[in-house]
Amino acid sequence: MNISFHGAAQEVTGSCHLLTTKDSGGVEHKLLVDCGMFQGEQLCGSKNLQPFGFDPKEIEAVFVTHPHADHTGRLPKLVKEGFAGKIYMVEPCVGLSKLVLEDAFHIMLEDAEKCGSSILYDENDLNNAFANVESVRYHEPVNVAPGIVVKFHDAGHVLGSSYISFDTEEKRIIFSGDIGNQNVPILPKTEPISHADIVVCESTYGNRIHEAVEERSIKLKAAIERTIKNKSVLMIPAFSIERTQELLYEFDRLLSEHKELQIPIFLDSPMSIKATHLYRSFENYLQFDSPIMNEPDGDFFSFDGLKETLSKDESKKINDVPAPKIIIAGSGMMSGGRIMYHLIRYLPDEKNTLLIIGYQAEGTIGGKIFRGAKSVRIFGGNVQVHAEVQAIGAFSAHADKNMLTQWLHTEDGKAPKKIFLVHGDTDVKEEFAQHLRNELKTEVIIPELHESYSLD
Ligand SMILES: [Zn+2]
Repeated sequence: MNISFHGAAQEVTGSCHLLTTKDSGGVEHKLLVDCGMFQGEQLCGSKNLQPFGFDPKEIEAVFVTHPHADHTGRLPKLVKEGFAGKIYMVEPCVGLSKLVLEDAFHIMLEDAEKCGSSILYDENDLNNAFANVESVRYHEPVNVAPGIVVKFHDAGHVLGSSYISFDTEEKRIIFSGDIGNQNVPILPKTEPISHADIVVCESTYGNRIHEAVEERSIKLKAAIERTIKNKSVLMIPAFSIERTQELLYEFDRLLSEHKELQIPIFLDSPMSIKATHLYRSFENYLQFDSPIMNEPDGDFFSFDGLKETLSKDESKKINDVPAPKIIIAGSGMMSGGRIMYHLIRYLPDEKNTLLIIGYQAEGTIGGKIFRGAKSVRIFGGNVQVHAEVQAIGAFSAHADKNMLTQWLHTEDGKAPKKIFLVHGDTDVKEEFAQHLRNELKTEVIIPELHESYSLD
């Protein structure tokens, strides 16, 4: 049995791991976990254009941990290059992945046109990928072949996110996907691991300790109060999946407790609006920290004052609404989407507030503003940053160092024999690896891109 790493090896994005294992009859099977996109780079010269590092025709099935593009973005390319097997994912992940991949497809077309690059796949490949999808439930065994059983377990990262276990060749191998933050008010907790021999673990925040979740409502309330007092505009760039719904939930709770906080709030992102509808339709996969029967409208994602602006016309009309007002719009790192128009209009006024609630990669406009830039270039023009910039770290969707460590302490008390660290910056992985070696007294490996390891 062996494992090889074809993305998220020296970086945070592009998750794609290949497990080659034999069934009880000695027949070999090639199984893929995630097939994500490398993000944060232009399409031209991108690693996404390079070969996978294996033959897609030989892959028998793909198991998808969750819908984020860095875990699903290369699925249509895999299909284009000959993969014809099944793609397994948990029920709510199907609709959310469709949203993510359709969005990624349009961005890719724009990118390709800008830089004259070839595209990774076309719309047919995208549709064909979903024709191969098979939805499963948590803990429902997928019997790949005699002696190979795969199961999905709740990772508590976004709606329908999983970590995945493979029982094969008398070993249990676990792929973490992305592990969620603790005490998220709308999601179940990350399931503990009962037993594992080998774990492939993400390490996004392997050297960080998060702000307590309670900070969310305290800081959000302060930002709303400032906006009402100043008769100004509060802009919140938000990722469409999970971050937006957690934010709506916080608003719902705050505004029902504090009736004095009356202010129009616009959800100005078609993708966020659609994702929120999916969250509503899979409520049985969510777990709220407050009983839904106490909620007068039976919906934690809507409240008085909230307007969803789906069309471009509705979005433009937000400009005519007098301040104070709150605008939630994508993209989360301010690298495109409707938030750009609001930034141009409202960033130059010192009375306004820009509230950052998500990770801002270096090089993005969000990253520049977060790191203190006084002026940014948007659509070819300079925009002065006079608005107050605030950040709430408590909205992170990932586990921090302590939570990951706790998760890796399996319930049977036996540390995994090997841990592979992926999905993290190199310095973070090295620090976290050393921490885990001390803590769990086990072998911790940081694989390189396309590197293969025997698990025998
Ligand atoms: Zn994720």
